[in-house]
Amino acid sequence: MAGFDCDVLIIGGGPTGVTLAALLAKRGVSVFVAEKEADIFPLPRAAHIDHEGMRILQEAGAAEAVMATSRRADRYEFRNACGRELMAFSGATGNGPGGWPIANMIHQPSVEAALRASLAARAPGALRSGWEMLSFAEDSDGVTAQFAAPEGERTIRARWLVGADGARSPVRKACGIAFEDLGFEEPWLVVDVLVDDPSRLPTANLQICDPARPTTCVLMGEGRHRWEFMILPGETPEEMSSDAAVARMLAPWQVEGAVRIERKAVYTFRARIAQHWRKGRVLLAGDAAHQTPPFAGQGMCSGLRDAANLAWKLAAITKGEADETLLDTYQPERAPNLRATIDMAIMMGKMVCTTSRFGAAVRDAKFALARALGKLPDGPPAYPPLDKGAILPGSPGTGSYFPQVIGADGARLDDVLGPEEWLIRRADLAESRLAAFAAGLTDWLDRHGAEAVLVRPDRYVFGSGDAETLARAWQAAMARRNPRPDSR
Ligand SMILES: Cc1cc2nc3c(=O)[nH]c(=O)nc-3n(C[C@H](O)[C@H](O)[C@H](O)COP(=O)(O)OP(=O)(O)OC[C@H]3O[C@@H](n4cnc5c(N)ncnc54)[C@H](O)[C@@H]3O)c2cc1C
Repeated sequence: MAGFDCDVLIIGGGPTGVTLAALLAKRGVSVFVAEKEADIFPLPRAAHIDHEGMRILQEAGAAEAVMATSRRADRYEFRNACGRELMAFSGATGNGPGGWPIANMIHQPSVEAALRASLAARAPGALRSGWEMLSFAEDSDGVTAQFAAPEGERTIRARWLVGADGARSPVRKACGIAFEDLGFEEPWLVVDVLVDDPSRLPTANLQICDPARPTTCVLMGEGRHRWEFMILPGETPEEMSSDAAVARMLAPWQVEGAVRIERKAVYTFRARIAQHWRKGRVLLAGDAAHQTPPFAGQGMCSGLRDAANLAWKLAAITKGEADETLLDTYQPERAPNLRATIDMAIMMGKMVCTTSRFGAAVRDAKFALARALGKLPDGPPAYPPLDKGAILPGSPGTGSYFPQVIGADGARLDDVLGPEEWLIRRADLAESRLAAFAAGLTDWLDRHGAEAVLVRPDRYVFGSGDAETLARAWQAAMARRNPRPDSR
């Protein structure tokens, strides 16, 4: 790798950056993660991760550690000011298509610690704390970035640079990329507590749609719980975060003596999406590329999906197995999924954040009518499948999310088949390594009337049909132009 310090330089050691690094390291790609802070960001943020996010953590080597301290809520309820249920989702404790429980309540710094431990095992020394990126310049072969590091000023040269540097992303700003504002901006106070007496706390996740004080109350990882209180017009973040104000807002929950406040912070919940996610050899991922209000618990999960989408593409390109135009599929594949996620979060947010009594009464009446007509959703809507990008258009199941089948002995399909693409043929299902999964895989092939399926490394379906056609189409998709190994 003459003249290069690494294949991929990642700016930002949050969950997106470290996951991407762990996925790349698993594929043998050399990575360097520069994180400006000395330690993991300690303030309250993500409390929920979905089954698909857990599957990505599985590949990143952190799932078991995260599951060991995560919890499941029996329901997700939206209640009005009188405590009447407006809408509720249940069944989150069962496994989703990702092969992990549908909703897992977590403590983000613990998830990040598990990811960092996995990265340190796969690529010792790849994450450098206290390294702040100051600037970078791109040329035709790579990117050169300058850092203020504990050792003094340092320079790193890489083939590709990924800005996973959060909502304020210096990388995005340096590229001159603007956000599209999707029209949601509300300040909320977030209060995390340590739990001494769990028997006095709700077992469901709750959205209290009370116009006098919209409030969220959710489980977190073991030993923790969270409240979020909307800051109303005329109130200031300072007065609302005072001990007296927090005690006043917690009083109706009657948890005095059962919990101790660990942290509190004010956040402005926003919905924004970057207009471009790639500029030459620079890519954006996670909060650097998009932000969503947290009502659907999807911000970090979305960053993990970005990492899963980018990892196999960057690996294939740096190994000379695909042309770099493959990266042009990143934003067209991910952005529709993000828009659907953000739309759902805004729908939930608007339902919760109504502060007019009249508006709340109208909302309550609408939900009562929908309930009477049996038209209430019983779960969050499914996200759209990929409809463009590195897929074989038109075959049954193309672009859909391929389930992780679990064997009778508890074995997980991904652990057995590994991180690359899979060409699964009906004829091969009797093979010993596939036998435990044969029923689930046959079911998928039957439902799609296919003899074979080609599953991409991020577990979206490339296409289905006969195996030879799929293999040829996959090669063609990887080599749109003549692939050229990055010169080493
Ligand atoms: C109150 C709240 C609740 C939430 N709840 C959920 C939830 O339940 N589920 C969910 O999925 N998501 C949730 N989220 C969103 C989630 O926390 C974020 O989406 C996630 O942290 C984004 O990860 P990231 O790695 O992209 O960015 P970040 O976590 O922001 O990491 C970016 C990193 O880049 C570093 N950096 C910045 N500039 C530089 C530089 N110049 N040089 C080097 N390093 C730099 C930063 O120090 C930081 O460590 C919530 C967020 C909030 C605020």
